[in-house]
Amino acid sequence: MKQNKIIGLCFLFVMVSVLFFSYDMELNAGTANKDDIYSVLKQKIEGIQPEALKVRHHLHEFPEPCFKENETSKYIAQYLRKLGLEVTEGIAGTGVKAVLKGAKPGRTIGVRADMDALPITENTDLEFQSKNNGFMHACGHDVHMTNGLMSARILSEMKDKIHGTIVFIFQPCEEGTPDGSPSGADRMIAEGVLENPKIEAMLGLHVMPDYPVGTVALREGPLMANVASVFISILGKASHGALPHQGVDAIYAASMAVVQFQALISRMKDPNERAVLTIGKMDGGVRLNVIADRVDMEGTVRTFSFEVQDMIRTGIENILKGLQLSLGITYEYRFENSSRYVKNDAKMTQMVLGLFKKILGESNVVITEPMTIGEDFSAYSHKIPSLFFFLGVGTKGKTMEKIHSPGFSPDEKALYYGPLLLTSAAFEMLDAGH
Ligand SMILES: [Zn+2]
Ligand SMILES: [Zn+2]
Repeated sequence: MKQNKIIGLCFLFVMVSVLFFSYDMELNAGTANKDDIYSVLKQKIEGIQPEALKVRHHLHEFPEPCFKENETSKYIAQYLRKLGLEVTEGIAGTGVKAVLKGAKPGRTIGVRADMDALPITENTDLEFQSKNNGFMHACGHDVHMTNGLMSARILSEMKDKIHGTIVFIFQPCEEGTPDGSPSGADRMIAEGVLENPKIEAMLGLHVMPDYPVGTVALREGPLMANVASVFISILGKASHGALPHQGVDAIYAASMAVVQFQALISRMKDPNERAVLTIGKMDGGVRLNVIADRVDMEGTVRTFSFEVQDMIRTGIENILKGLQLSLGITYEYRFENSSRYVKNDAKMTQMVLGLFKKILGESNVVITEPMTIGEDFSAYSHKIPSLFFFLGVGTKGKTMEKIHSPGFSPDEKALYYGPLLLTSAAFEMLDAGH
């Protein structure tokens, strides 16, 4: 009896040990699996670099502006179709959406790239310079598209490892329209890009020459600014330039307005809040000895809270009312919200920060301050949890031309890091949901 008990206990001990051991093995296999995925991604992305360069050079050679991305969009749709994805074209004009279903059930996430170029004449010595005269991919959207396409390519080869669905979104007109009407993201959302399948979280990036290639920058919460456009006409009365008292001088009033607007930034706003107000265009007058009867002005307002934006909007109007009272002008005033601030979801930021540190090394992941440039990715980020980050495209030791300049030329090693970070983050986001 006693012996049986001992044998029984020994048996139980062995069984429990075996169970523990196999559980431990499984756990280790789980971790190893994840690391395996990242090393497979690294290898695969390394392997398609010649293809990535070819695609980027083609897109760079044929830049097309806001809502006119016709050939670009056809090229992208064709590429995605060849990968076997379900492709929809013609969203918001030239927008493209491609759905990649993983072998296993799970969440649905979106990966967004923008397609538009700028009306800038290229001034680089690249062999694959713009062939569309007067237009250039000076904001790096050619790199964004290439990163999106290469990510789609790699992930479509790894379908069996994907839990859930990835929707690739190629969006027109990120730069916005000159008249302040809705840009690409808003229009794609209005046309249902986030539905069927319903996208639960969104991922995007922007190249940034201020950071060397191999580094990224991001932050939780507001990353990029609310963007608003200001359109003002000051209306006066013409008279002889030598007899100003017989007219109402629109140029003088407009000058006063521009100067007084800065009080909204320096005197009216809490100094702890960030904001910029720039009048970038002013047009008026006929000749040296005529009092101008009209001045048209355009400007941009950048903020990180809707309260500060509201204060500036009403502040501009109050200044114009004051000038009406003191100088006798009348005015027309329009304040258009172009895009809201880009908002990074707290949970996604923490998750991606940990992942990026693992992939790039702790010192290559920068927590940035909010930037006063805008991005219409914000439209997605105010609808669903989103994560947007800056991808370093600077070359160490080289002074880089900035984005929107005719000499902008990102370091092409970004065509490795971009897809690596996007695909790794996609796996991480999908795995977090099952
Ligand atoms: Zn831009
Ligand atoms: Zn851009």
